[in-house]
This record gives sequence, structure tokens and C-alpha cells, in this order.
Amino acid sequence: MQRPLDEAITARLQELDARGLRRTLLPLGLDEPGRAALDGRSYLDFGSNDYLALASAPLEWESLATIPTGARASRLVTGNLSPHMAAERALAELVGLPSALLFTSGYATNVGALPALVGPGDHVFSDELNHASLIDGCRLSRAHIHRFPHNDLQALELALAAAPPSGHRLVVTEAVFSMEGDRAPLEQLRALTERHGAWLMVDEAHSVGVLGRRGRGLCHEAGVTPEVLIGTLGKAFGAMGAFVAGSSRLRELLFHRARSVVFSTGISPLMAEIVSRRTLQVLEADEARAHQAALATQLATGLQRLGLEVRGTGPIVTAVFGTPQGAVEAETRLREAGILARAIRPPTVPEGTSRVRLVPTAAHSSADIDRLLGAIA
Ligand SMILES: *Cc1c(COP(=O)(O)O)cnc(C)c1O
Repeated sequence: MQRPLDEAITARLQELDARGLRRTLLPLGLDEPGRAALDGRSYLDFGSNDYLALASAPLEWESLATIPTGARASRLVTGNLSPHMAAERALAELVGLPSALLFTSGYATNVGALPALVGPGDHVFSDELNHASLIDGCRLSRAHIHRFPHNDLQALELALAAAPPSGHRLVVTEAVFSMEGDRAPLEQLRALTERHGAWLMVDEAHSVGVLGRRGRGLCHEAGVTPEVLIGTLGKAFGAMGAFVAGSSRLRELLFHRARSVVFSTGISPLMAEIVSRRTLQVLEADEARAHQAALATQLATGLQRLGLEVRGTGPIVTAVFGTPQGAVEAETRLREAGILARAIRPPTVPEGTSRVRLVPTAAHSSADIDRLLGAIA
């Protein structure tokens, strides 16, 4: 006997409630960059990944009026349009790799690219704190998955040495970890993967656009060339979508084999054109990047002075409160002080490390950070 669906759902939501994991969607109105409108009040927004405040930066909108809103079909059918190809050239050039392929989101990229690259009989070595989209992509690939402790080169080396020599080997990491705010040792990872005949895939969701000179990301900054580089466009670029960059053969394999490209309508050509224009703005934003970095340092230092456990020094800073209830209480208190920041709880972060994730953007001022620190104190 099947229970009515709503009853079953209610039971599951109550279970989330009991564990302090029930969430709500904030009904936000539009506001100035760096702020968010909620229930008729304007809040300082430290919860968005709008690092360079480009999500609401001016564009020449009149000149976009003739660009189609829809791709009309998969890129492989009739949906491969000039704005897509122009954006891909601009993005490849930004990260200093030969080629790039657009996807509709970072999530769609990782669940599409990983199974296109590896399969049963292959070995994926994945940092334990990798983003859910990378985890899901690994699972979908049906390759053998070796999770290694966060940023632990020794453990990774042991796992690579212990894995059977058959099949391909792929090491997967983020450049800046999205919920931890720390960075992967990219140069050492490159050396290690070369020693062990493994490919390297780096997800630069929180570094392309926001870190490195001209926003070219951490791989470029470190002189590291991964076989596969992921960048997302919903964060520093203030747009939406994502891309894989690498060799032109990689691009070709992906449009044949990444199911989130093959069986999905191409990203809106209008969005692709916006991405091209945002890319030009990203290249010119060294000043905004320096300002964002200075605010992140001010925030991390201030939180440490308050005696809080701080993870991440920029562009993301997190204050760890432990229990979901602790992090939610911090979120509530900040809300009362006119500040928006979201508690991050399991399953997004491991049990016992619930935290408030704080992202200063180029639209904030040093006085805004002082206000945030005052409210936390
Ligand atoms: C945000 C994020 C993604 C997903 O990108 P979307 O474009 O938001 O789907 C993928 N990987 C990492 C590391 C991220 O932080």
C-alpha cells in the first residue's frame, strides 16, 4: 500500500526539521550590488559568489537586442551558434588553454565531463571535499573511485601507487574549495600526476575570474597545465553557465560524449554573448580583485581576533560554529543586524563543521566588513 505522496514528503521534511536541516528559500527582491532586499528591508549581502560585483554591472543592453534568446536545439544539431563559439574562444584565451566548450551550468559540466573521460575499469582519485557535482560525475562514470583526505599529497601518492596499473587514472580537485575556502597544492599535484601517469582535472569555479592577474585563475598563475580545467560563469562572471578548457581534442570528445551537452539544448546564445562581454570586464578588473582580496583578509583577521575558527583567506571566508543549530543561530542573529549570510550545514559540509560562509564582494567597503565583524562580536 503506497502512502499518498504528500504524507510521505511531510514525514521526510519533519525528519529534516528534527535534525536542524530544514531549509527555506529566501524571497529576495532586487537591490544594489552587495545588498539584498528582504521583506522591504535592505540587507548587506555576504552570501553570494558575486566576487567582482559583475552580476549587476552595466552592459550595453541595446546592442544585445538582436541576439536570439534560445539556441533552439542541442549544439550537435542546429544549436551551435556564433555567440557560443566566440565565448568559447574568449574563455580559452582567458585561462591560457587551446580550447573551451560551454555547458549550461557547472553542475551539468561535471556530471557530463567525468563520465565522458573515464569509465568502468578506470581510476578516479577525488579529494574528499570536492563539490557534489564532481562527486556525482565520478559516480555516474562508474570508474573505480579513490577518495583521498583533503589536500593530502602523501595519501594521494600512496593511493596512486597502490592502484592496479590497468585503466586510465584521473586526479580530480578544486582549485579553491567552495565550502572550505582553502586552496589545492596545484604544482605538487601536477608533479605527482606526471610521476604516476595520471591526468589532472581542476575545477576553478571559485578562482577563474577572481584570482590571478587579469583573473586568469590559479592554474595559470601557478604555471600548471591540467588536462581538464573547469570554470563556472555564475560566480565571478556574474552570468550563468560553465566551461571545460583543454586541448581541442578534449573539446571534440566532450561534444560527442558528454551527455549534458549531447542531450541538452545549447546554452542561450544571449547568455553566451553576455559571457563574452563579461569576460572582457573580468580581464579589466584587477582593481576589483585587489579590493575583494583586501576585504577578505580584513574579515579573516577580524574573525580570528574574535577567537573564531576561521577557514579560508579569500575569496571565501568561513566561520565554523560546529552544530547546525549554532550556525543557524549565527545566521539568525546576523539577519537581525541587517546582514545576510547563510549557514552551511550537512550534507554540504561534514557533520560537526556547520559554518557561516562569508563572501565579501567588490561592491562592499571596509566599513561594511567592520559592520559585519561588529555584528558577529
Ligand atoms: C558552484 C560550483 C559548481 C557548480 O556550478 P554551477 O554553475 O553553479 O552549477 C561546480 N563546482 C564547484 C567547485 C562549484 O563551487
